[in-house]
Amino acid sequence: MTSRQQTLFDTSPAPWELDAAEDQLVASVVFPSGAKEPFDYLVPMALRGGLTVGARVLVPFGRSNRALLAYCVGLADHSKSSHRLKNIKSVVDARSLLSPAMLRMTEWIADHYLCPWGQVLESVLPAGVRSGAGTREATLLSVPTEVAMRMTELKLPPRQHEILRHLAGCRDAITTKELAVAVGCTEGPIRALRQKGFIEERRQRISNLARADTPEEREPALKLNPDQQAALATIDTALESGQHRTLLIHGVTGSGKTEVYIRAIEKVVSFGRQAIVLVPEISLTPQTRQRFRSRFDQVAVLHSHLTDAERHWQWQRIAAGEVQVVVGARSAIFAPTPALGLIVLDEEHESSFKQSTAPRYHARDVALFRARAEDVPLVLGTATPSLESWHRAKTGKYELIDMPRRVMDRPLPEVVTVDLRTQTRGGRGAISRPLRIAMEEALSAGGQVMLLLNRRGFSTHIQCPACGEAVRCADCDVALTHHRENEQAVCHYCDFHGPAPQSCPSCGRDGIRYGGLGTQRLEAEIRAGFPDHVCLRMDTDSMKRRGSHEDALGKFKRGEVDILLGTQMIAKGLDFPNVTLVGVINADVGLHMPDFRAAERTFQLVTQVAGRTGRGPKGGRVIVQTFSPDHPAIQAAVRHDMTMFATAELPHREALQYPPCGSLIRLIIRGPQEAAVKQFAGQLTAGIGHALGDDAAAGKILGPAPAPITKLRGNFRYQAQLHGPNADVLRGAVRQAAADLKPPEGVQWIADVDPLEML
Ligand code: ADP
Ligand code: ZN
Repeated sequence: MTSRQQTLFDTSPAPWELDAAEDQLVASVVFPSGAKEPFDYLVPMALRGGLTVGARVLVPFGRSNRALLAYCVGLADHSKSSHRLKNIKSVVDARSLLSPAMLRMTEWIADHYLCPWGQVLESVLPAGVRSGAGTREATLLSVPTEVAMRMTELKLPPRQHEILRHLAGCRDAITTKELAVAVGCTEGPIRALRQKGFIEERRQRISNLARADTPEEREPALKLNPDQQAALATIDTALESGQHRTLLIHGVTGSGKTEVYIRAIEKVVSFGRQAIVLVPEISLTPQTRQRFRSRFDQVAVLHSHLTDAERHWQWQRIAAGEVQVVVGARSAIFAPTPALGLIVLDEEHESSFKQSTAPRYHARDVALFRARAEDVPLVLGTATPSLESWHRAKTGKYELIDMPRRVMDRPLPEVVTVDLRTQTRGGRGAISRPLRIAMEEALSAGGQVMLLLNRRGFSTHIQCPACGEAVRCADCDVALTHHRENEQAVCHYCDFHGPAPQSCPSCGRDGIRYGGLGTQRLEAEIRAGFPDHVCLRMDTDSMKRRGSHEDALGKFKRGEVDILLGTQMIAKGLDFPNVTLVGVINADVGLHMPDFRAAERTFQLVTQVAGRTGRGPKGGRVIVQTFSPDHPAIQAAVRHDMTMFATAELPHREALQYPPCGSLIRLIIRGPQEAAVKQFAGQLTAGIGHALGDDAAAGKILGPAPAPITKLRGNFRYQAQLHGPNADVLRGAVRQAAADLKPPEGVQWIADVDPLEML
């Protein structure tokens, strides 16, 4: 890190280089792929005025000198390299795409997540920005200032006067055609003015999309309750301090956190600064959009359905400082706001803030880096803090803000468990008697019902009663799920679809059994059991079409749907006052996964879905069906009690040095030949073990062993885990081993720093 940083910021040459360095300009460039370290190039005289740090350049590379695209990450008057430097060929971007602060951030990400810097640069800049999507070269007209100042004195035909006045009054530069249309003239008089030097021309890339958002209806600010006032006061103090602080708002579901964010952002905007609000992709529904658009003039909502051109246009607006609030998922943390004032990360416990492909960054940690670098507060909010954030708050690294009550003094819903072990089994379906009675009561009183089942498909396994084989994906070590539509057997990992078998693919016997409960089967059961009520299923299968998520929520909101059932998709952030009952069909679905966060995820999911009810005057209650009613995660969720959960869970983490009580790096080695994968996994693990040395307290490596999912998309998978108190020591060991070892053909390996995915 230090040696690379010098190429960015250290511009003072060593004394013995002064002579040679005279009148040189050296650019340090990073390639998007291939070479990992920065390379130095000379900037020829002709290009000196036009090159800024953070712009891309074309440079000759290798023996053949083929032209490659690269990012200029530093300019200096000398090079540390002893090689003869080549010249940069041309400058690609007229303006810098990455400010010095953003460059430093990308360098930190590369370092922290063990990823090449160039790869980080490529993923920080949206593809539409890199390609200039939705823009075209145009010749733009403007009136030179000297001309504008003595416009009234100019002796000109009236038509030309009118054209000049119009152009001088335009806020943005326009083209000849646009000017002619606006004034209602031909292009002749415009050309005449240009020839006289009264109009200036320049070539520039402009957007095809310069259109305004449809404004939302204004909503009045709510009167804050005492908890909200106290939370806002703490954020205000942080804002006024002009320094970085991280505040964790632990506010129960429905405590009114969003209103607090909005008030804090209003303050930021009144200082002429911008705010970034990060939410899980699933929360980017019209509800969120409308809430921010109705309170701020200039909001950029960055969601995954934007086209490249739209994304580029938003990026330009943000970079120009025209946007007050950027609302988006994970990658919105890279929004190029020129004067950032605040970062808010809502539902901070959500695992979608971590990117599952390289660079495997966590937006919360990137946000923390950025907030520190730009000296602004970071506000994290959730009803169910991740144990990482909880631990940091409890050890004084973050300030904890408690909002233990709901708005309007509404009580948290009562949660009761139904012990599935004591319910009569066999043919009775998914809904226990107590849940059925509660549903009937809620529906007949005009309330709405939400049912959570975190498993999609119809039957979750297909098994032969004769040989006991469960039907598995040919490419993955994963059981196939039966989907009713078109009678398909589907792999939920690689998306393989095949006809559902009638006989056992292994022993050929007929009478194969379809078992296990998925959302499709639940839907069928509800339709049969509640024929007079409208039921809607929400999972990734039923929500494939663009806009279907919004449509479904709209129908539910308008009361056109009585029963909404679905996967975790329905558990998050929704605010529907008429939901008087939430049922959890099986709280144990994720509890026994081979993942050290299984209990934490279960606690979060059950607490969050329970929080969807009791948000209106009618109140609400929750029924949780489970085989493990005494499990600490379920017990704590029943009480909406984060402290209780953390107290039960943290000692386990401590004992095993799992996060947040230690650092973790997960290695995955994969390839189509199991023997080669296993062998390289052994070498890599040994190499890292060697680099770590004998001091087990500094760090240790566990494995290699087959990953819980031993095969995925035709690749065999092995894993190893590095544990230790100091992440830098672990990273150092991985780097050292990686420098000495190259995987054989057909074997790949990845390092996942602070992993969330453990299967
Ligand atoms: P959270 O994000 O904490 O779950 P929200 O911010 O979504 O809670 O607020 C829940 C509901 O309460 C929203 O409908 C919001 O409009 C409403 N609300 C928030 N603050 C107040 C307040 N001070 N008075 C009345 N209603 C409020
Ligand atoms: Zn598969």
